[in-house]
Amino acid sequence: MSIVFIALGSNLGDRLANLKNARQALAEHPRITVMDSSQIYETEPYGNVDQDDFLNAAVKIETDLSPQELLACIQQIEADLGRKRLIHWGPRTIDLDILLFDNLQIQAENLTIPHAELTKRSFVLVPLKDIYNQKIFGKDLVEWINISGNAEKVRGSDLEW
Ligand code: AMP
Repeated sequence: MSIVFIALGSNLGDRLANLKNARQALAEHPRITVMDSSQIYETEPYGNVDQDDFLNAAVKIETDLSPQELLACIQQIEADLGRKRLIHWGPRTIDLDILLFDNLQIQAENLTIPHAELTKRSFVLVPLKDIYNQKIFGKDLVEWINISGNAEKVRGSDLEW
């Protein structure tokens, strides 16, 4: 069994429902157990001011899927949830990223683990810090959050799973 951390983000439609549905879809997978979830955060989008704020969270799962199988699984969940909402909201309602997969380091054409942007994005680091307390590339998450320099864009929320 592998321990994997996944980031969830949504800024379109019913953002909270999107996060919940994505976590539910992971939990319903016969080869995935959801072990822990971060709090839900609200993040000002970087760069493009013409977007709604994101909701961001992270979950810890246990799985016997391979990294590539899990990537296919999260892409299926993104497609399923996106397709459902296409009617009402548009194309992109949920983003799922594999952040960490055990201690594996993978550089494949379609998959980089640890996630390539992990140490740069406070909207990923801040939720991950709720459920992960080891170092990444020799640094605590707090250090990476400080280095990222954009932590002020990530706000706690009182939204519940
Ligand atoms: P995005 O649109 O930002 O969700 O990026 C999706 C693309 O990133 C897909 O084509 C994936 O194959 C690729 N990708 C590379 N590394 C990862 C990862 N660790 N988790 C999820 N997608 C990844």
